[in-house]
Amino acid sequence: MEHGRTDTFDIEAQPSLHLLETDSTSRSELLSAIVNYGEVFLNTLQERKAYEHSAHERKGTDDFFEIDQARYSIEDILPFLAQRLDVPGINTASGGHMGYIPGGGIYESALGDYLAAVTNRYAGVFFASPGAVRMENALIRWAARLIGYTDSFAGNLTSGGSMANLIAVSTAREAQNIKSRQVDQSVIYTTQQAHHSLQKAIRLCGLEECVLRFVEQDLQYKMVPQALEAQIQEDITNGLKPFLIIANAGSTDIGTVDPLDDIAHIARKYSLWFHVDAAYGGFFMLTDYGRQIMKGIEKADSVILDPHKGLFLPYGSGIVLVKEQRHLAQANRYEANYMQDTKDYHEETSPAELSPELSKHFRGMRMWLPLKLHGTAPFRSCLEEKLDLARYLHARLKDLGFEVGPYPTLTTVIFRHVPNEQNANACNTALVKAIHKDGRIFVSSTSLKGHVYLRASILSFRTHRREVDLLIQILEKERALLETQP
Ligand SMILES: *Cc1c(COP(=O)(O)O)cnc(C)c1O
Repeated sequence: MEHGRTDTFDIEAQPSLHLLETDSTSRSELLSAIVNYGEVFLNTLQERKAYEHSAHERKGTDDFFEIDQARYSIEDILPFLAQRLDVPGINTASGGHMGYIPGGGIYESALGDYLAAVTNRYAGVFFASPGAVRMENALIRWAARLIGYTDSFAGNLTSGGSMANLIAVSTAREAQNIKSRQVDQSVIYTTQQAHHSLQKAIRLCGLEECVLRFVEQDLQYKMVPQALEAQIQEDITNGLKPFLIIANAGSTDIGTVDPLDDIAHIARKYSLWFHVDAAYGGFFMLTDYGRQIMKGIEKADSVILDPHKGLFLPYGSGIVLVKEQRHLAQANRYEANYMQDTKDYHEETSPAELSPELSKHFRGMRMWLPLKLHGTAPFRSCLEEKLDLARYLHARLKDLGFEVGPYPTLTTVIFRHVPNEQNANACNTALVKAIHKDGRIFVSSTSLKGHVYLRASILSFRTHRREVDLLIQILEKERALLETQP
């Protein structure tokens, strides 16, 4: 108006203008093309490889990823995606995916994301969408009660475990009042099994110069509580300030669960913050077995879980829980003039007050919809099945003469072939490569005490006996080939 422009700017008079609002017919066509694509993908999953090795060969074929000025139709786009997106690399939707920590990605979550994005509800602040915030808080309450928190807890739905660990570490730092000048005398305790996202979190929180103690582990790679306590006492005697213990409830490498109850006791005795990384193990609290092995988790000051692992959601879902809401609020407090309208609405706490994020994906819907549609029972049965499958795999591999790691605490089995003459590490590296080349099942590898181990992590909701038997069959075949051609 300032320049008298609006009077002459008439949208209707510009037929060449392509507007972003799509009409109902086009929407239906787009949607059905995409739904069809998803159906073809899901209906052919069993024939698809879990890992497609030959991904980087044809030059130029990926140019279509670049954004140019042109418009394309969905008929141009989907065949490209089918070839260049949904073939190369790891097929993480496949039941044959047993690398790292899988989850699968249940379909109802995709529909939840669809709903969340279509309505674009803003889940950051109660004032803006009381319903979205109520939904997310209900999920937090469910997860908190699952791990045994009772009343004054708080939490946040994050994009994954790494962000959840970051929030937990920053909360611990604030609650323990660690100021910059004290960082190099402050001590953090964990084990070599800790996930590397914690190292990132420590650095991002300005705690890189802390003293980081890797506490002794027993033969199952669990933290030894006596060693922890002795180290804390020694550090106090030497004038250091112990402030944080980080334990595993399911380490990524092999699924180790530390003795949480004993560690909680020590944390309380010396007034340290106790953080439990349950990104992998957390949802096993749905099972009786999980509740037994994770006894004491409810005493932790903070816990993280990864719904995109143990709840089988597609990537993009983590949870951080903090025992006392005030600590989480304290670590994320903010003031902004442009947020003043929202202040009087405090019926429920807003996610933005409890996390570094403000505008964010309404990620509650992708977790809420499947839990509502299925109920919680199938999630429990599915986790129980995975525990059985891991025990079965461990026993079968042992029978077949592989050297197996510890009996699986959760659902990860590590093993290696010990050859007669060749170098064992080179041989197992070759074995992993051969399995990747076959591609029907994907496993990853790790190193423990200088030995290369293969690891099969069974956590996709699509992994059943068929896939585990297929892995065993491939392993036997490839091992025999390695033995005959050194
Ligand atoms: C996967 C994992 C993480 C990291 O979580 P992301 O969701 O990948 O960011 C942290 N800790 C453990 C034990 C994990 O297994």
